[in-house]
Amino acid sequence: MRPYAREVTPERPHRALRVMKFGGSSVTGADRIDAIVKVTTERSRSRRVVLVVSAFADVTATLEGIAIASARDGVVPDDFSRLRAYHRQAVGKMTASGATIRSTVERLLRECEGVLGRVASRRACSPAELDTILSFGERLSSEIIAAGLIQRGVHAVPVDAGALIVTDATHGDARADLDATSERVQAAMPREPAVPVVTGFIGATSTGVRTTLGREGSDYSAAILAVCLEADGVEIWTDVDGVMTADPRVVPEALPLRELSYQELFDLTSWGAKVVHPKTVRPLHEAGIPLEIKNTTSPSDPGTRIHVGATGATGGPLGVTRLDVAALRSPGHGTPSTGEARAQLETLIGEIEATGRDSAIITVVHRRGAVTDRAADTIADSLRQKGIFVAGISEGANHATVSLGVACEHADLAMNAVHRTVFSSRPKASANA
Ligand code: ADP
Ligand code: ASP
Ligand code: MG
Repeated sequence: MRPYAREVTPERPHRALRVMKFGGSSVTGADRIDAIVKVTTERSRSRRVVLVVSAFADVTATLEGIAIASARDGVVPDDFSRLRAYHRQAVGKMTASGATIRSTVERLLRECEGVLGRVASRRACSPAELDTILSFGERLSSEIIAAGLIQRGVHAVPVDAGALIVTDATHGDARADLDATSERVQAAMPREPAVPVVTGFIGATSTGVRTTLGREGSDYSAAILAVCLEADGVEIWTDVDGVMTADPRVVPEALPLRELSYQELFDLTSWGAKVVHPKTVRPLHEAGIPLEIKNTTSPSDPGTRIHVGATGATGGPLGVTRLDVAALRSPGHGTPSTGEARAQLETLIGEIEATGRDSAIITVVHRRGAVTDRAADTIADSLRQKGIFVAGISEGANHATVSLGVACEHADLAMNAVHRTVFSSRPKASANA
């Protein structure tokens, strides 16, 4: 990933247009469609709305597993039949099962099966074929969600981002060409009063070869479209109360962060806070577009707001994150890190790999410049007190991070121990309300 832009962008005038992205967990099931309708209708009263949707929960990973198995075994595995049944059920649950949506879904499933069949007969899957196979997750979900919205009275139109988002040819981790994408968006985005339901995660090269933007890349799709449409904001709707001081699934004591600067969000996400893809942050920062992270199941909750005028978090530490060394080694799957963090990371990984164990990097991300002299020792001591072996310690040159290597089997315990040490003196309602 390119080094992060340092310059602060002034707040720019934007159009009354909001890009709202709904993640995999937020689009699965009829009640979720009701939630999307509610927030779309509310936002539509004052501005144009463009929706970006992920594949249904776990579909991308399942498609990837099916592609790998097809190439390895020379036959498309039974998992594909289950995936077909799952989408047919989704049509039944989320829409009125009209003939049009049923035949669209069957056509997409047949097309996907055709590509998988070719992969199986050649016993090989090229990066371009893998991207084509993965694209079906979002193509299916955007059609089904749009049908569900139409049935509930929203003038929704499914849009395949392969026709909008122009990328380089880096399969599995493509980067958008914003100028070329702007032209396509102006020409091909459905006009008002339509509510476009755009596939996240996918794009295509200028010659039309399908690409994907990296796992969890639908957040980046929302940022790309927001910049090209000069949106006045992006909302990322997910299954937690915003960006928190740690993954709340692992650290129950984690608290939401109400306001962050773009730089702080970038540091948290590039060190492993998976709630937002790190590629999302820079384009929004450069265009001065505010970002909100909201919980689909509790829409009135304030969530986290990131904007040009943000004073940032109040305390020194912002959060405790985790990166698995194995994931960092696979392109498009690990969290990319900045040039400046890369050197820090490589040294630490070298020390950790010498232990020969599956390892994770636990990082305490601070405001820039806020790491104190004693911070690394205090954090490492909190792990040793729990009997956790620390394979390596590293401090970022920008005084924003302290990273420690631990065995994966100890990572959850380590996250909780470090979080308690670092945040024990903070107020309870939110880490920086
Ligand atoms: P979506 O399907 O909406 O894209 P993701 O699973 O990609 O959702 O991201 C949301 C998940 O990110 C949460 O369920 C949570 O487990 C995880 N997560 C990891 N770190 C953090 C953090 N610091 N704050 C909030 N959530 C986090
Ligand atoms: N569906 C893709 C994935 O699971 C992209 C996303 O959900 O953001 O990686
Ligand atoms: Mg995600």
